[in-house]
Amino acid sequence: MPRFPFDAPLLLPYRSYCTGFVCSLKSSKVSAKAKQTEQQDDPGVIAAATAPKRDATLSDETLAVHAGEKMGKNGAMDTDSIATPIVSGTTHWFKSSHDLIAFKEGRRHSFEYGRYGNPTVKVLEDKISALERAESTLVTSSGMNAIVATLLALVPPGAGHVVTTTECYSEARAFIGDKLSKMGIKVTFIELNDMETLKDVLDQGDVTLFYTDCPTNPHLKCIDIKLVAELCHHKGALVCIDSTLASPMNQKPLTIGADIVVHSATKYIAGHHDVIAGCISGSDALISRIRAWNHDLGGAISPDAAYMIIRGLKTMALRVETQNHTTLRMARLLENHPKIERVYYPGLISSPWHHIAKSQMTGCGGVISFEVASDLHGVMRFIDALEIPFIATLLGGCESLVQQSAVMSFWGKSDEEKAKNGIKDNLVRFSFGIEKFEDLRDDILQALEKI
Ligand SMILES: *Cc1c(COP(=O)(O)O)cnc(C)c1O
Repeated sequence: MPRFPFDAPLLLPYRSYCTGFVCSLKSSKVSAKAKQTEQQDDPGVIAAATAPKRDATLSDETLAVHAGEKMGKNGAMDTDSIATPIVSGTTHWFKSSHDLIAFKEGRRHSFEYGRYGNPTVKVLEDKISALERAESTLVTSSGMNAIVATLLALVPPGAGHVVTTTECYSEARAFIGDKLSKMGIKVTFIELNDMETLKDVLDQGDVTLFYTDCPTNPHLKCIDIKLVAELCHHKGALVCIDSTLASPMNQKPLTIGADIVVHSATKYIAGHHDVIAGCISGSDALISRIRAWNHDLGGAISPDAAYMIIRGLKTMALRVETQNHTTLRMARLLENHPKIERVYYPGLISSPWHHIAKSQMTGCGGVISFEVASDLHGVMRFIDALEIPFIATLLGGCESLVQQSAVMSFWGKSDEEKAKNGIKDNLVRFSFGIEKFEDLRDDILQALEKI
């Protein structure tokens, strides 16, 4: 399969970015075992079976399968089962009062209580840390939970200032605009790539955090993360990127300057349209602040859901690679189709966001939007004539999904509101799954004939 035609893949030496893996080796039983075997006659056997060489440069494909599990056991999972066990216990017991005191004094590790952490969830967090090259990750009960916990933890009420963009996930935008502002937090909205306004706002000197999506939904706009991080850091502001539409396979915001990356793990990370979750990755210091807040919010995920995501992640590299290719090929085809007016996809050379995407992504993901040369009802006929995709509002999973934004998200809303959000009646958002390209192509082309 040909690679996505961007230059070099964003494959970074694991060691430089993933301190989580190194830490877990240092602190776990695995490292003790590995150390022991180093001193024995045949050091290779167990060491190789339990821990990779620390300076190994591992690819995302390998990390998605092994990180957090074979590579970096967390010590509480004393098992030789290949599949990570679902530890369903809600609380963890102590052998004695002394044992409990050792835990309280930080001399012994325990998960104590399920809302504060769980061994299965910890495996998932370590896997995501490896993929995002993060020191630490917190997995939450939904993407919105991840966003809200991050904002509440990092932006002080009464004194904070959040800068965000007019196009970003609608519920996050509403939370920032309606709720944070009621907590005495200053909120400024800017156009996604209006760097001059961003500089002016930063010059006020009180910005706590810049928050946006990259790419955005549904117009797939991209922001220059490196540039934004430079500007924000210069003025002491943190940068949080919602990287859901890219997936950890295609973009690693932490490696290009962002302080925090959040995902709706409901999308590419879980990948099967069957579990809702979110995650937040960044430095130990920032994530532990957010973790403390999330303990109060009670946003813990169940170990069963965590297991499903661990399982889903094993195939993320394969899924996303297929989605990248299918979507790019379809975007190119639709761009030249007489019944299509406009295609939004940063992988297209004609996209105004292409140069930014090319500089910070290794593929552009499975979501594409396009305007059909027809009206509301013509596009409804197109959607209803499609045989493979479901009409549903999600993205990133195995099944292709399609939606007409004017119907799915803006039905009953005013023309003014639609115009403000750039939503035309003929706009279609398509999330490509992992079905065969030719089948999807033929289905879309036959449906376009039914308008
Ligand atoms: C879906 C989505 C969210 C919200 O995630 P949930 O898991 O539904 O809570 C946040 N940001 C983006 C970009 C999304 O696509």
